[in-house]
Amino acid sequence: MSWTRFLRIGDADVFSLTDGQFRLDGGAMYGSVPKVLWERVAPADELNRIRLRINPLLLRLHGKNVLVETGFWDQGGEKFEGMYAVDRDETVFRGLADLGLTPQDIDLVVNTHLHFDHAGRNVTALGEPTFPNARYVVQRQELHDALHTHERSRASYIPGTIQPILDAGLFEVVEGEHELLPGLSVLPLPGHNLGQQGVILRSGGRTLVYVADLLPTLAHAPFPYIMGYDLYPVTTLETRRRYFPQWFEEGAVIVTPHDPDVAFARLEEGKRGGFVAVPWTEG
Ligand SMILES: [Zn+2]
Repeated sequence: MSWTRFLRIGDADVFSLTDGQFRLDGGAMYGSVPKVLWERVAPADELNRIRLRINPLLLRLHGKNVLVETGFWDQGGEKFEGMYAVDRDETVFRGLADLGLTPQDIDLVVNTHLHFDHAGRNVTALGEPTFPNARYVVQRQELHDALHTHERSRASYIPGTIQPILDAGLFEVVEGEHELLPGLSVLPLPGHNLGQQGVILRSGGRTLVYVADLLPTLAHAPFPYIMGYDLYPVTTLETRRRYFPQWFEEGAVIVTPHDPDVAFARLEEGKRGGFVAVPWTEG
């Protein structure tokens, strides 16, 4: 059965795709949250890893195909795949094919950031842009940081997924909030790293937000449930405090990059002024 899930937001058709499942250390995914709390919602395997999914998004609006995130790097070899327990039960390419699309049909790619679990399929195994007719939208800060890594950030970036896009002149480098198409913008969501961006779609009185790693899974919605991977966790907290109330008020559809089971969600008020995320239901 295909994973792809569909929603209509005003003029836009929205498809949640998947590029398969993987696993990361549960402690790293939940930062300072004790295991006795997180393991209730995210059971760990014998290596303390929890199940996650890669959830790219395809938007069709104004006659354009916009792909948010390209997928999980597939050229790391057996050891790399084993370390992350990669399970390619579906791929972004199969999801596109189900919609009658090939990589050549993509007009815009949004790289929320350039980590290998988000921008991993920017480039083919032949070293060529996977989406040759697309402009790849990235924040200037993120492109800079990806090209100037340090000991704490280096493992997240694969130069081979970045340099060929630069060489081909396909990056559309933006700074701050930027409108891609009428009703569709990228929005800086700093914290996980400095240059992370989300995508916000407003059409027909409705709002949908691709939140990137500001909220990796639904279970991470409480304000202090911040990943140990985040370079600037207090900035993550500030970004959440700024936007979660607004997205809640707007009744926005929330799309997370790594929830293992849920494609579309919304925020609800939780305890002590915070929020929880629950699966989206229409009406
Ligand atoms: Zn991620």
